[in-house]
Amino acid sequence: MTVSVSRFSSELVNKVRENGGTIAISPDCTIMLPSTFGFCTGVNRAVTKLNDIVNGKHIARPIWLLGAMIHNPAVNEAFAKGGVQVSTCAEEVFEKASPHDIFVIPAFGLPLELDKRLRGFVAAAENIVDATCPFVRRVWNAAEQAGKQGNAVIIHGKYGHQETYGIWSRAVNKAPACVLLSTVEEARVFAENLSVVEKSRLFNPEKLAGCDWTLLNQTTMLSTETAEIAEILQKARWHRGKAFMAGTLCPATRERQAAAQELCAKGCEVIIVLGGTDSSNTTQLYRMAVERIGAEHCFFVQSELDLQTDSVRHFIPFERRWGSSMNEPILKARRIGVLAGASCPDSELERLLIRLDCLILRKAVANEPRTT
Ligand code: SF4
Repeated sequence: MTVSVSRFSSELVNKVRENGGTIAISPDCTIMLPSTFGFCTGVNRAVTKLNDIVNGKHIARPIWLLGAMIHNPAVNEAFAKGGVQVSTCAEEVFEKASPHDIFVIPAFGLPLELDKRLRGFVAAAENIVDATCPFVRRVWNAAEQAGKQGNAVIIHGKYGHQETYGIWSRAVNKAPACVLLSTVEEARVFAENLSVVEKSRLFNPEKLAGCDWTLLNQTTMLSTETAEIAEILQKARWHRGKAFMAGTLCPATRERQAAAQELCAKGCEVIIVLGGTDSSNTTQLYRMAVERIGAEHCFFVQSELDLQTDSVRHFIPFERRWGSSMNEPILKARRIGVLAGASCPDSELERLLIRLDCLILRKAVANEPRTT
């Protein structure tokens, strides 16, 4: 089975883009999209690279994808169906694969040790297709640079995220001390007592006292939170050295966050956030929406199937669980905002828009007074 990048695009969504992102579904209901959304350049590049391999000259050889290509199940599934073996377990890959197979490094990159091991395992360098996003590499470089200068490294990143493992591995390789902070609350605790709950997120924390440090962020965090964390840490009792901000948020994240802020300010009564539940940038868009209009008006869905006739199944990222609510607030809203993260293909967005359209029209017809 072949995979084509065009399967992730959508003529309908392109038209909506050209029309300024607004669709009037009925006289009473408008769907609004932000000025920027969907696949970023890094995701597009990674998907295109994998697509070329699947359909190209290496087709006869097994293709191993080392982790999810991007955090979108629809995209990963499409490639898995195209014959790509997706594995999150490095040991399994080294046990089952041949050095002559093709190995694809996803957009998030690999932790340093795994990257080195893979390069030592393959029969030739050309067996590795490296789809690491250049903006992820920029964070690695910032971490290594800070370490070389003798600075401790403080990472603002999502704990357990593939990208964060890669940044952490490069930071601890050179820096005298390192800590990973995921939230502002964690930063407060850390500022107070140089500690976090999981010890695996700390590397020589005692050396931070009196040391210069560099704060850098995973590419997809909320910029406002990184700034807040910086402020908190600079007021810590142990902070006696100099503090440096690396500013490693990627441009695509910045643009999508700004566009989402703009959309939230347009008076949406309800906001639907579409994307993979493991996607960091999608989670940040959801958090921004919740801050703006309240959790009861925001719904994080993974596909159009989460929108059912009477209810909506939605993910609650703060609790890492799924919830279910009546979909009444969505169907009654006059302005519905839809946000899609950098790893969400237009094809998925199209399906969601069509589903919304059907549900809203169905409700409008059901409510029409009967004429006999
Ligand atoms: S969100 Fe940013 S860092 Fe991540 S793949 Fe896209 S461009 Fe690269």
